[in-house]
Amino acid sequence: MSDTRRVLCYYRMSPDGSRMVFGGRARFTQIDPTVSAPILHRYMTDRFPQLRGVKLTHAWTGNVAFTLDALPHMGECDGLHYCLGCNGSGVAMMTYLGCQTARKIARAANYACSFDTEAFPDHPLYSGNPWFLPVVGGYYRLRDSLDRLLA
Ligand SMILES: Cc1cc2nc3c(=O)[nH]c(=O)nc-3n(C[C@H](O)[C@H](O)[C@H](O)COP(=O)(O)OP(=O)(O)OC[C@H]3O[C@@H](n4cnc5c(N)ncnc54)[C@H](O)[C@@H]3O)c2cc1C
Repeated sequence: MSDTRRVLCYYRMSPDGSRMVFGGRARFTQIDPTVSAPILHRYMTDRFPQLRGVKLTHAWTGNVAFTLDALPHMGECDGLHYCLGCNGSGVAMMTYLGCQTARKIARAANYACSFDTEAFPDHPLYSGNPWFLPVVGGYYRLRDSLDRLLA
């Protein structure tokens, strides 16, 4: 499940039903789980007050790859085959694109995958460092708070 905010949180029970697995975006910069865990714990108890006082056993963090056209891409560059750009939802997609890429390398594909594109979206002002993320993230958080205030 996830909530309907722009800066959303997502959560589910563990398969054995004994734990809440809770995720979200604590900050829009690289931080250590020791920093993100208390923030996410607060987001969790905001949504599930009955979990106040419940301790966390594990916290981790990771990167998600967003592309400028919000689409995943597969392709080849100087003989290097790639598939990337999960936009936060890659468990199924990257497995599929991995399979498509393997077929392409093995010349066993019987159709061209629509994510296999020549062009890779780029922007002259962007050199790989997402310096604007805290600004954009802050703006989306503000919009979420205003929506809640005006609701
Ligand atoms: C906190 C978080 C929550 C997420 N939640 C969801 C979700 O709910 N649903 C969803 O669909 N997606 C979710 N995602 C996104 C999803 O995890 C990714 O899209 C997916 O894992 C990408 O798969 P991948 O195979 O492209 O890359 P990865 O899973 O990152 O695999 C890359 C592999 O390459 C290895 N590697 C790196 N460098 C080298 C090297 N030089 N030599 C050899 N091996 C190397 C790494 O060790 C790694 O095992 C989430 C991501 C994060 C971080």
